[in-house]
This record gives sequence, structure tokens and C-alpha cells, in this order.
Amino acid sequence: MYTSREDKLKELSPDLKPFRLKQVNTALFNMNISGWNDVSTLPKDLRAAALKTIPWMSIEQVELYQSKRQDTFKAVLKTQDHKQFESVLMANRKGQWTICVSSQIGCAMRCNFCATGTLGLKRSMHSDEIADQYRYWQQFLLSKPELPQRISNIVFMGMGEPLANYDNVKAAIHTWLGYTDLGPTKIMVSTVGILTQMQKLLTDPDWPEVRIAISLHSANQTKREEIVPTTVPEFLKKLAHWSHEYERELGNRNHYITAEYTLLSGVNDTPELARELAKYIKKTAIKKINVIPYNPVSGKSFSRSDRARIEHFKPIVLDMGVNITERKIMGEDSDAACGQLALTEQKQ
Ligand code: SAH
Repeated sequence: MYTSREDKLKELSPDLKPFRLKQVNTALFNMNISGWNDVSTLPKDLRAAALKTIPWMSIEQVELYQSKRQDTFKAVLKTQDHKQFESVLMANRKGQWTICVSSQIGCAMRCNFCATGTLGLKRSMHSDEIADQYRYWQQFLLSKPELPQRISNIVFMGMGEPLANYDNVKAAIHTWLGYTDLGPTKIMVSTVGILTQMQKLLTDPDWPEVRIAISLHSANQTKREEIVPTTVPEFLKKLAHWSHEYERELGNRNHYITAEYTLLSGVNDTPELARELAKYIKKTAIKKINVIPYNPVSGKSFSRSDRARIEHFKPIVLDMGVNITERKIMGEDSDAACGQLALTEQKQ
């Protein structure tokens, strides 16, 4: 369990006004301020009381790994109740940084190829713990002045299923939108496809205009059920329907839906499945497919499709008129690549 900063502040000062919370958040995201003592906008006694009872950071570093080329960093972090999770900083095409954040400790979705799934779900993270991953990396960059400093993108592709932790994910996004220079299109929520929550966000006036990515992995219902065991009956049909509703309600140029497709050798990378994928995507409002070469996970029988197979798969989809891109593989030598976040070091 985690008691939020807001609740703790309200314990200290029961009639705390909303503007005080804004002052606190402004200070938390101001890199010139490193603790409660420096928050000069707050009354002195509140500052002193907060210093004693509220940690400035809700999460703490346990380990830090870096790739040889210093383009990927993976942190093992821990919560105040000693739950460990991972967060990744990756160089992006703009020469800035993308952070890959976790939204849950472990995950309940058990996607067959994914390392996090083997951990099961320990607990969902509080919005402070999600939002603080940005602060953690910002402080890290400050300690490395030789590196570019700007975090330009955030993706929910660390541990956990963000839509299974809807309220905290939403609150963390609002914190970033309010207190960093990031706009909503720089934030991507990646989901296994929890249709009830996807339906909810369509009519949620507070759902931020972030990008959304659906982890599809197959446009064949039976095949997807094999790979993603939480696939509900008629998932693909329902997803297509939802995508059109999404486009109608929220769609605009910068706000399109992406499908992610992790290529698993001999499982979902055949020419027939490529054709089935393109045919399916054309019936939906999904605008782009992003293929992810599989990052092998020890103990799993899946392997990465080889270059020839990937280069065969992509043009089939493209020639059928569907936009398909490939994710660059990052962080392999530091076990920080997508789907490899499973705390291998502690063997939990
Ligand atoms: N629960 C969210 C976030 C998962 S991580 C979701 O399902 O979208 C982000 C992406 O990485 C997902 O598409 C996931 O399926 C994929 N992924 C997981 N393990 C992987 C691995 N070992 N190699 C490549 N991609 C992987």
C-alpha cells in the first residue's frame, strides 16, 4: 500500500487549499528544487512537517544498467513498500529521450511471450509512483550533463497493463501534462486491448488526448488467443468496431491508433498471416502497424523472426496499402528491451 503525497499533505494540513497542491507539484517538477526545504512557496511549518513525513520521491533506485553505447538506461526502482519494478530511458530519433514507464508491479495479462507476464500481478502503481518515473529520469539526466537533457516522449510500455490501472494512469498523465512541457501526443498508452476500459475512455471527458497503441500480435482470432490468453471471444470484430467509434469521438490527425505486432518466428510471421493482417487493418480505423522484433526471454520457447522473414512480411502488408513500420531494437545488451522487464537480476 502507498499513501499518496496529497493524502499525507492533507493529514498535515486538513484544510489544504487546491493552490497549495499546485505549488507542491510545480516544485516537484522543478529540477532546481531538491527537497521540501526548498519549496519556498509553502508556509514554513508545512515545509518542516512534510520534510519529516513525506518522501520527496515516491520511488528509489536499486540498480542502474546502461548499454555500451549509452543510448539505453534501465533502472530497477523500488516503491516505499519495497516492491521492485523497472523503468527505461531510450534515445529517440530526435536525439532526445523517450521514457518507457511501468504502470503496475508485474502484470496479470500473462501474454505467452512476455517476461513481465511470468511475474503475475503484485499490485497496481499509484499515480505518484508512475509520474515520479519522469522525475527520476530527469534527475538522472541532470547528473549526466554530457548527455542530451530533454525527455520528449513517454510510452506506457514498461511493466503492467495501463488500462487495468486506468485511474492512476490517467492521473499520472494529467500531472505530466500540467507540470512538464509534454503535450498529449507525446505520450502513448499501449494496451493489450481491455475492451471495457477502451469503451470507457471514449466517453470519459477527462481522458487525455494521448496516443493509443493496441498490442494486436495477430489478426487471426484463434492465433491471437494462443499468443494472448486474455483475448475475449470475437475480440477482433469488437476491436474493429471500437476503432471506428474512437475515430469518430476522438480521432484527429495527431491522434490515430497504432497496432503493435511482435513478430514471433514461425508463429505469427507467415505470408498468409501478413495478408490476413492487412485485410483486417483495412476494415478498422487503425492507421499504422508497428512491428516489434521479438526480444528473446529466457525460459520461453519463442524466438525472433530472422531478417529475411521480417523483410518478407512487411512488404506484403505495405503492398496491400497498409502503413507498416518497424521498431528499432534498443537496449538488448542491458536487458532493457521491450518485454524484457522482469527483474531478472533478483530472480523474484
Ligand atoms: N500491457 C501493455 C504494455 C506491454 S509492453 C500492452 O500489452 O500493450 C509493450 C509492447 O511490447 C507490447 O506490445 C508487448 O506485447 C510487447 N512485448 C512484450 N514482450 C515482448 C518481447 N519479449 N519482445 C518484443 N515485444 C514484446
